[in-house]
Amino acid sequence: SPRNLHNTSIENSPLQVFVRAKKRINDIFVEIEEYVVETVRFIDDHPAEVKIVDVEESQQFHSYVQKVSGIRSVLSRDHMKVAFFGRTSNGKSSVINAMLREKILPSGIGHTTNCFCQVEGVDGKEAYLIKEDSDEKLNVINIRQLANALCQEKLNESSLVRIFWPREQCSLLRDDVVFVDSPGVDVSPNLDDWIDNHCLNADVFVLVLNAESTMTLAEKSFFHEVSKRLSKPNIFVLNNRWDASACEPEFQDSVKAQHQERCVDFLVKELKVNTVKEAEERVFFVSARETLQARIQEAAGQPAHTGALAEGFQNRYFEFQDFERKFEECISKSAVKTKFEQHSSRGKSIARDMRLMLDGIYERAGVIRNQKMEQKKLLIDRIAITEQHLMTLTREMKLKIHNMVEEVEQKVCKTLNEEI
Ligand code: GDP
Repeated sequence: SPRNLHNTSIENSPLQVFVRAKKRINDIFVEIEEYVVETVRFIDDHPAEVKIVDVEESQQFHSYVQKVSGIRSVLSRDHMKVAFFGRTSNGKSSVINAMLREKILPSGIGHTTNCFCQVEGVDGKEAYLIKEDSDEKLNVINIRQLANALCQEKLNESSLVRIFWPREQCSLLRDDVVFVDSPGVDVSPNLDDWIDNHCLNADVFVLVLNAESTMTLAEKSFFHEVSKRLSKPNIFVLNNRWDASACEPEFQDSVKAQHQERCVDFLVKELKVNTVKEAEERVFFVSARETLQARIQEAAGQPAHTGALAEGFQNRYFEFQDFERKFEECISKSAVKTKFEQHSSRGKSIARDMRLMLDGIYERAGVIRNQKMEQKKLLIDRIAITEQHLMTLTREMKLKIHNMVEEVEQKVCKTLNEEI
């Protein structure tokens, strides 16, 4: 059944590359932390009268404890981030919902998101949202309420609303993928703010186009700006609403070829982020609305396509899955590189610095030990000489006493003789 298929695909999902790497690097930092803490304890415990470690060194060792625990806390928050861009109503929210297999983000007329919306996983069963500059957890009971919460206030177009959704309900959230939906690039964006606040740490960008029209200048310039600031960003292009073309089958192939060529040219010739071969694997023709509907049906135990579906549904559905697979491969590789490469080089440099310092201390301890041995040897020599002296002295004394005794004896004898 489709559900089983979905379950097995979780097990060998390419996202596991990131999940496993995160676990491994975390385990390594647990070890480094133990090592650092033990070293500091050893340094602190050594008697102060033995001046091997000075105050500065001791402070340095204490700073490593903080550094390592800092890295561990960043590491625990590391995730894979994908950001969606495109004009309003091209279907960005629908694409995210389709990937999450649930209507989480409000979509459709009147529900235009006028700020950035981030969806991330959270432990437990409660969904909630947090607005920028606030710690208050607002309950999200249903999608209508969420939509109202997002539309009620005039939120700054660059601000961020974070939606926390139960991890267990979606494999992508469980595996630490974070989704960012943007306001349409047609709403006169403050590009610098957008890029600084929401794009610099994104691992993958998805440009959602409307397949019924051509790529606009606003959409292009946004990505020109992004690729100026980031070297070779990973960009996927979704020609969405491809179901609409099904009513005009006579033009479908030529329209598709035209879109495909333009998108590939955009990535290869304009942005210069891909080779032609790579770019061809980055452009897809999909219908987010159909995919979402199909998945909601499947989750309810019904077949994916009941009711009146446009011609070619199955192909578009497969193409969406193909996109997801390539997206997962790309995002997990990119996130491992961008996030963990830094941690591992910092971990290495901490270990190297500590080793150098410990080597220095060991050497100094050796020098001090040799000095003490030298002193001890001198002392022993001196004692030997003294002993020698003493022996000579004793011998001489003995002789003298002997002589004296003899002398006294003689004197006594003599006196006695005289008396008699
Ligand atoms: P956003 O503003 O880019 O986030 O676009 P939304 O996801 O809110 O979609 C705008 C409207 O287009 C909604 O009414 C969606 O149901 C509809 N829509 C989204 N994707 C598709 C699609 O693939 N095919 C069709 N026919 N309609 C779509």
